[in-house]
Amino acid sequence: MKKRIIGLAILVLIVFGGYNFFQNFSATGVNSGSIQFTYEEVPNYDGSNPYVVVNDNKPYFTSDEITKETYVKFGPLDSLKRVTSAMACLGTGTMPDEDEKRSDISSIHPTGWNNVKYDCIQEGDGYCQNRAHCIAWCLSGSNAEKRNLITGSPYMNSNMNVFEVRVARYIERTDNHVMYRVTPIFKGEELMCRGVLMEAYSVEDNGQGICFNVFLYNVQPGISYDYYSGESKYTGEFLETAVKADEGYRDYRYILNSNSMLIHTPDCENTGKIGSKNKVYSNAGRDELIGAGYSPAECCNP
Ligand SMILES: [Zn+2]
Repeated sequence: MKKRIIGLAILVLIVFGGYNFFQNFSATGVNSGSIQFTYEEVPNYDGSNPYVVVNDNKPYFTSDEITKETYVKFGPLDSLKRVTSAMACLGTGTMPDEDEKRSDISSIHPTGWNNVKYDCIQEGDGYCQNRAHCIAWCLSGSNAEKRNLITGSPYMNSNMNVFEVRVARYIERTDNHVMYRVTPIFKGEELMCRGVLMEAYSVEDNGQGICFNVFLYNVQPGISYDYYSGESKYTGEFLETAVKADEGYRDYRYILNSNSMLIHTPDCENTGKIGSKNKVYSNAGRDELIGAGYSPAECCNP
């Protein structure tokens, strides 16, 4: 009897010791209990890749977390009002309808919000901060939800989009489900996250179509942030070397609008405005598309 109690005590120690060991990021555990990740393992951003692969690219979802029942769940804000984690089983049912309107999100000020305009920022209107959705509107239909919006650099936001588009395209093509979780990673009591952990796993084909686990740096080439306050300053560093997440592994070359018959590059901002019915992802050659009646869009000139 005594032995069993001691054995049980040791087991409890192991289980809870291990649990605590993996909890040294900010999340409260809702949605993110199965994540085994520490920011300390991540190499510093070096101006090249906008993300690093984590856990051999295998997401941390446990077998009982994987489901075909669609849902979108946001963790509660923590004691510093920071976003914790957003998790979903995505499918065509969680994606917004084509005519669904996006509400205004400008009234939401996520933690670390301190937005300034810089000449060196190419993305958008040149401001150094975006309200970045953990789970994108195009996947969840969630828009002005403060548990889903973080202060993100335009660079991180656009690189998140590369992964989001892959998932959206996969769901549209297959009608399958994708387990999906985005967790902002804060260091200590900082108010602007150091990056986001993005995990995705396609359910019906056991990850054949979609399977990734990546940490994207919340950095902006040319700018440095004070992650406590969200204040920023110009450094000029990494402006020449920074690349986009889709360079090197993009599995399609163009995004087409089958209504206007225009060809766009995958990173063109205007592709976000194309309704899902008219959006075609294509690997065809440029000449082939022109031969089929398409023409290059002026906005991105592919
Ligand atoms: Zn374009």
